[in-house]
Amino acid sequence: MTSPAAAPVPVLVFLDPAFHDGRLADATKPQLMATDQGATRGDGVFESLLAVGGSPRKLQAHLNRLAGSARLLELDIPAEEAWRRAITTAVSEYRRGHVPGAATSDDDELVVKLLVTRGVEGAATPTCWVQASAPGPAGRRQRETGVDVILLDRGYDSEVGERAPWLLMGAKTLSYAVNMAALRYAHAQGADDVIFTSADGRVLEGPTSTVLLAHLETSDDGSGGVRTVRRLITPQLDSGILPGTSQGALFAAAKAAGWELGYGPLEPRDLYDADAVWLISSIRLLAPVNHIDGKEIGTPELRRQLTAELNALYATIE
Ligand code: PLP
Repeated sequence: MTSPAAAPVPVLVFLDPAFHDGRLADATKPQLMATDQGATRGDGVFESLLAVGGSPRKLQAHLNRLAGSARLLELDIPAEEAWRRAITTAVSEYRRGHVPGAATSDDDELVVKLLVTRGVEGAATPTCWVQASAPGPAGRRQRETGVDVILLDRGYDSEVGERAPWLLMGAKTLSYAVNMAALRYAHAQGADDVIFTSADGRVLEGPTSTVLLAHLETSDDGSGGVRTVRRLITPQLDSGILPGTSQGALFAAAKAAGWELGYGPLEPRDLYDADAVWLISSIRLLAPVNHIDGKEIGTPELRRQLTAELNALYATIE
């Protein structure tokens, strides 16, 4: 039996004022202080984005969200230009070392993470770095095969974000232990993923994704023909969820292509009644949801058609 090939070593580039393009660091060696508050408290923020053929996708939207998360945590992070230079260094180093034919290939995918911690205890400067690595196989597979999902109660009501800003509901913080625990819980039930619901019964988001649903409504067009209204809906953004950069970009492209758009509030019943449901995120892109709590969503043919159409729209996004 052959053992699976080891994943290539990630490339790390630290943002460091002494290095204009970022400081390359060896990912096989320790690089963080043990007293870094990212490690001791999960205190920090991050972004995950996809680079295709060496080009980071939706970079401005990710930089905007990173800045927004940092503001919510009162973290003073380096300027956008420093991030852009470090990302360029990380992506080109990774491709130079790990992607055969990188100079000519334009469809290889890389995961680029932007990481910020509150820094070592007692120091006033955040620790910031960029990591470029290979995507895991599950994401690509789930784009094709879809996912089975269970609904799990997140335990907060949908208005908690406004009432309790210290919960940092709209920030992409490093404290993802709860999200990962929810995924392990789903896997133990034989499901692939989770859609969180609020204590007041609203649909929220996945642990690492935004929820989208499609509704097709056909009506008489008044002249003997049939008119189909296609509506794409996502939970409302002020219900304590992370604003998804993928959802935002896809909505803009879908609107231009004639889809109507809607923003919650959504209940589980709306998911069961939908023609298709997806989990969407920057790395996995659109993963069609086949079943929720064992109930089939739409039909295989409708899911396939609508997913192909939205994938084609998503491919037009920079
Ligand atoms: N919601 C949560 C909780 C996430 O962690 C993510 C992405 O990781 C998303 C939504 C989707 O965000 P994006 O489309 O920007 O990747």
